[in-house]
Amino acid sequence: MKIKNKILCPECQIPLSIIKTCLTEKKIRLRRRVCPACKFGYWSMQYPEVVIPDKRIKYNRKWSVTLLDYTP
Ligand SMILES: [Zn+2]
Repeated sequence: MKIKNKILCPECQIPLSIIKTCLTEKKIRLRRRVCPACKFGYWSMQYPEVVIPDKRIKYNRKWSVTLLDYTP
């Protein structure tokens, strides 16, 4: 069986929960995923599923964020 869209916590190996979905001004949907056990969390963007470092996210109002460009 193929499970789509399941991302496992690198520590606990259990699926991360999506706790929040936000839209950027450019209508890109971003999801905040958090491990229910260890609270490890990150932002991701689809498709394909891409992890976004926290420092690229700027919170605006509720449900709206800005995706910042940055050089690591
Ligand atoms: Zn975990």
